[in-house]
Amino acid sequence: MIRVAINGYGTIGKRVADAVTRQPDMTVAGIAKRTPNCEAKIACERRYCLYAASEDDRAAFDQANLEANGTIDDLLIKSDVIVDTTPDGVAQQYRDRYKDVGIPVVYQGGEDADIADASFTTCVNGDITSDADIDSLRVVSCNTTGMAHALTPLDEQFGVSKLHATLVRRGGDPAQIDRGPLDCIIPDPVTIPSHHAADLAALFPDIDVTTVGLKVPTTVMHVRLTIMLNQTPTKHAIQEALNGQSRINLVENGDGLTSTASLKEQALDMGRLRGDRWENCLWTGSIYLDDLTLSFVQAIHQEGNVVPENIDAIRALVSDTAPDGGTTTEEVLGITEAVEPETPQG
Ligand code: NAD
Repeated sequence: MIRVAINGYGTIGKRVADAVTRQPDMTVAGIAKRTPNCEAKIACERRYCLYAASEDDRAAFDQANLEANGTIDDLLIKSDVIVDTTPDGVAQQYRDRYKDVGIPVVYQGGEDADIADASFTTCVNGDITSDADIDSLRVVSCNTTGMAHALTPLDEQFGVSKLHATLVRRGGDPAQIDRGPLDCIIPDPVTIPSHHAADLAALFPDIDVTTVGLKVPTTVMHVRLTIMLNQTPTKHAIQEALNGQSRINLVENGDGLTSTASLKEQALDMGRLRGDRWENCLWTGSIYLDDLTLSFVQAIHQEGNVVPENIDAIRALVSDTAPDGGTTTEEVLGITEAVEPETPQG
């Protein structure tokens, strides 16, 4: 069993913990937290071993009658790998501690790319194995992950020379009330490209990438991609290529899934924990092909889509089994299998 430590038990950390629990080859060694809040209480109810981020934090846990089993240092020595899901920029404070203990680390996209030996997304470098000379991976951001999932099958099958993405980004996660209420559209940043371009270009060095970021008052985001292909396929061939990528759900016209809200509702109806969508939801009706130029709109659930990637990154760093392109993760989590796409009219 791979003993997984999780540092930071917020939006991503709690999801990663629950996904780890479901893996046959992994167990949660413990979670480290700073504040003894309601999430800490639920973590205890879920029987996760709680650790305080520091001795000072431990005192706060004692005061709140929550038993911390030690500090992060105690957790590190009983774990095989750590997933750092602390807020943007905080992991840098822990990096040397992780190195001193010699524990492999999975970082998140809110950290600078150079924090880890490599940036990771399953569809691009999911073939990394534990015997590679890599001790840390950084799972790229939710938007970069979603763009990479769409880009990979198209690049493999038709060749892609350019990508332009307009990222219509959620103003904040549902619990991030300090980011709202918003009643505006914020170019974020005003300058082009947004930071996503550098990450994506690093994963796809031969593709000319431009990204524009716009924040809007919602908690689930849309992403519109325009891609320059090297050859002109049919719309059906494009749908087949996208459908073959297991982390994409094609949303058919007529399903009544006309908004991100309905996609979220459907995920809850499907029994997905927290209503998470782990896959890109790509509206087939938005697929527009004009010679070599392909456009479409896909929805990315920012809180959900990096979770399977974290599980894949853990296996890449420490598992003895051969890489399977994320299939085990998908089977265990129940990520929708590809379905035969409808033949488009016209
Ligand atoms: P979050 O704020 O929801 O959770 C962070 C957790 O870390 C909180 O529980 C917080 O109390 C804890 N924490 C704060 N300081 C700490 C410290 N010094 N030591 C230990 N724990 C500490 O953040 P999040 O949204 O889960 O983001 C985590 C990382 O994942 C970031 O790099 C972010 O960019 C990335 N990410 C977030 C999303 C998203 O939609 N939220 C999507 C993709 C990637």
